[in-house]
Amino acid sequence: MHRTCSSARWGRRFRLPTFGLFLLASTLAAEPADWIWSGRYVITMDAPRRVIENGAVAVRGDRIVGVGARTEIDSRFQPKQRLDRPDAILAPGLINTHTHAAMSLFRGIADDLKLQDWLNRFIFPAEAKNVSPEFVRWGTRLGALEMLLGGTTTFTDMYYFEDVVADVAKEAGMRGVLGETIIGFPVADAKTPADSLRFTEGYLARFRNDPLVVPAVAPHAIYTNSDETLRAARALANKYGAPLIIHVSETKKENDDEQAKRHMTPVKALDTLGVFNGRTVAAHCVWVNDADMAILKNRAVGVAHCPSSNMKLASGVAPVLKMRALGIAVGLGTDSSAGSNNDVNMFEELDLAAKLQKVTTLDPQALPASAALEMATIGGARVLGLEKEIGSLEAGKRADMIAVRLDRANAVPLYDPISQMVYALKAEDVRDVMVNGKPVVRDGQILTLDQRAILAKAAEYGLKVKASLK
Ligand SMILES: [Zn+2]
Repeated sequence: MHRTCSSARWGRRFRLPTFGLFLLASTLAAEPADWIWSGRYVITMDAPRRVIENGAVAVRGDRIVGVGARTEIDSRFQPKQRLDRPDAILAPGLINTHTHAAMSLFRGIADDLKLQDWLNRFIFPAEAKNVSPEFVRWGTRLGALEMLLGGTTTFTDMYYFEDVVADVAKEAGMRGVLGETIIGFPVADAKTPADSLRFTEGYLARFRNDPLVVPAVAPHAIYTNSDETLRAARALANKYGAPLIIHVSETKKENDDEQAKRHMTPVKALDTLGVFNGRTVAAHCVWVNDADMAILKNRAVGVAHCPSSNMKLASGVAPVLKMRALGIAVGLGTDSSAGSNNDVNMFEELDLAAKLQKVTTLDPQALPASAALEMATIGGARVLGLEKEIGSLEAGKRADMIAVRLDRANAVPLYDPISQMVYALKAEDVRDVMVNGKPVVRDGQILTLDQRAILAKAAEYGLKVKASLK
């Protein structure tokens, strides 16, 4: 009692100076940060799946250092710069687990065809006549521009001259798991699979330990490579601790052909060859049966589900619900812009992934919005083996983050931020993007690439490709 009175008197007498000292002390105690971004909602995708109203994220260097209520983050951190978006959702950057970015220059080259017709009659001939390092450079710039403006911060790529893709990813300030394609016929960057493996080894060595690029080995598929090449691709990946990316069971034809040839499914055949003995990203997995899914689970293979591509090429419907129930990591991918999608818009994939499972099971609860968003963020990170680094807004993770505006006709009113992200918001609503702590899109404008030059080059290449097919 006595002490309380005494301290109250002390407090009254020294009120002003004490308050001043408190301010000084709190400023001194504040932790330094490079950025604070605040938003009306922060969708964290952390383990308890917190959605914070009036939230903020503090970033120092390439890492997130704090996520919480804006008042709390503001009192804890002293940022060099800040971005306040009271009319936006902050969310983890979207993760595209399967694409061929450079193929943006073939956008819409041939539509409404089956995969094998599309590949053999259009894509493979067009690639033979046009693909060069410069083609890949401009195509990937176009793809990266579209992806970043649409909120994708990480892409998983398979193509030729993947070293050029990696250079462009770094120039764009975008994260990538980038696989050099190995295929069993002569292509622009290799006459034989052996050449391709040598080229890939140089590429893996060059980008090892890069802060943005994870180099990978990408044998195209079981039906375009010999068993020997597939085994060698796995061995090379494991020598460098690199992931292996491959198309698996995309069509019924692929399964029928392997059954006829080996009396096995593609998954069983790849497992028998040892291709899954190490980190693997399998694109599509549409025609996988229960035994295949058990293999994928046991080998911790990550699956890139590509709903637009599977719908457009009429490949079928991947058993996403079963794979998720088994605990297989399933992410979302766009596949290429050339005929199988025809864009790299992850907001579309979010929406379609949810709706495709609903309509094919006649169950509106089959894949809820929260599950779709998980697949495009932390689930995609698991597919790539990067779940400790990216996929959620949490202290300690890399700062890959987007701000999506909520002030347009398609965004109001708002009852549930996650539902809004999946079913109502569009790629065009992405306003700001940060990758690895660096802003790369500000107020809808790309900061790292020359948009005007890219669009002009795309038109130029379009004419060249058209002429080459005559
Ligand atoms: Zn593909």
